[in-house]
This record gives sequence, C-alpha cells and structure tokens, in this order.
Amino acid sequence: TRLPIIIANWKTNKQLSDVYAFLEALTGHLPSRQIVQVGIAAQDIYLHEMVRYLNEYHETVDIIAENVHWADNGSYTGETSPAALADIGVKGSIIGHYERRKMFKETNGTVGLKVVASLRNRLMPVIAIAEDTTRYNPNDVDMAPLSEIAISLAGVTREQAGNIVIAYEPAWAIGAAEAPSLKEIEHAARVIRKSLAILFSDAIAQQIRIQYGGSVTPDNARAILGLSNIDGLLIGRAALSAETFITMTQDA
Ligand code: 13P
Repeated sequence: TRLPIIIANWKTNKQLSDVYAFLEALTGHLPSRQIVQVGIAAQDIYLHEMVRYLNEYHETVDIIAENVHWADNGSYTGETSPAALADIGVKGSIIGHYERRKMFKETNGTVGLKVVASLRNRLMPVIAIAEDTTRYNPNDVDMAPLSEIAISLAGVTREQAGNIVIAYEPAWAIGAAEAPSLKEIEHAARVIRKSLAILFSDAIAQQIRIQYGGSVTPDNARAILGLSNIDGLLIGRAALSAETFITMTQDA
C-alpha cells in the first residue's frame, strides 16, 4: 500500500506574512504522517524559514522546492543547488512542472539530470509529466508518458525508484475551470504505471506514488484520491488557502 502524498504548490504567490499565517493555521489540523504525507512547495526564499518554523512547532509538513538545479555547486548563476536544499532541511523538489517546461524551456533531458541530482542528495523528486495539448485526447495519454518517463527517469536505479513521485498534470487542466473526468485520470495513471513497469519492474511500479494535479478543489479531491492508481494530489489555486488545503488533506 502506498502512502498518499498531498502537496500544495504555491508557485510565485504569497509574501512572508502570508507564509507565517498559513503555517500557523495548519498547526494541529493535519492528519498524522501515517495517514498522509503533506508537503508545501514554495519559492526558494521562504524554504529555510519554513523548515525552521515547522521544526519549532513539530508540525507534520514536508517543505519542498519548486525547482532544483542538477549540479551540487559551481558557476550556475541564479540556480539553486540540490545539496544546499538538502542541507537546510528541504525534503524534495517538484521537477519539470508544465509551467517550467512551457515558459523556461525545460526538457525531459534537463528533468532527467535534476532527478538524478535530487536522488544523489536524498531529496524526493516530484516529477511532473503531462501531455501538452489543449484538451483531452486519449491517444496523447497513451503515447506521451512512456517517452517522457523513459527520458526523465533514465538515470534512476531500481533501488532509488521507490523514492520518486510522479505528478500527472495535463497541461489543459492546469488553472482550468474543471479537472478531467475520474475515468480519464485513472486511465492516464494506469498508463503511467504500465510505463513504470516497463522501465523498472511490476513490483517497483507498484511502489511508486502517482499524484494528480490540475484544477483540484475540495469538491473533487476526495473522489480523485479514491482512484486506485492515484496516490495523491498536487494542488495549485485551491491550496493557497490554509482552510481549504486542510480540508483536502483530510480527504486522504
Ligand atoms: P491549479 O490547481 O491551480 O489548477 O494548478 C495546478 C498545478 O499546476 C499544481 O502544480
């Protein structure tokens, strides 16, 4: 059985006072770590302070970066070192979010380098994959994952594979009015798990957690979490409010 994992992706939102208010509102309201792994992905500038704050209050939240560089150190102006993230107590990083692929030219190749760098530093990679289309088309779902997964996970060993998380986020469902149907989400997750089985093994594919992301709300969270191949959520807008986020973690 796979432990559900629910992550808030704040993107480039919130100022420091909002961050404190959110963390304070969570205190005492999250399910235990045995029931669900809860994470918050935030801008780099807040990560160290979030880890410090949560350690002080013994809260059950993992702090996660929204992006990470592939080199541990060196001359890479403006990038964030995976070794530095691990050093300050960050637990993982989103890698290859659709917005990074679209606006900042990330490719499956650079995603692959970042995945390897994360695992080397014991950071949990949350690898976002998605068909880049404007609306649902079953053929895209069947074709895209295997090539994306094969390239992005090329450097992952069988021993490491259980530690990765895949986030299925179809481009057309991010920031949209509606999520795909439950049937479409389960179908995509099943295709992804089959691709993972081809790349690693059936047993390993069964250990890897697959999240769904894209227009998750308190109205659809519970049903999506109930799908047999979905093990968590990556939530944008609906996770900007602490109250709404708490509600969705309780659906796990
Ligand atoms: P929304 O939940 O706002 O659609 O964003 C999804 C997303 O990109 C999470 O990473």
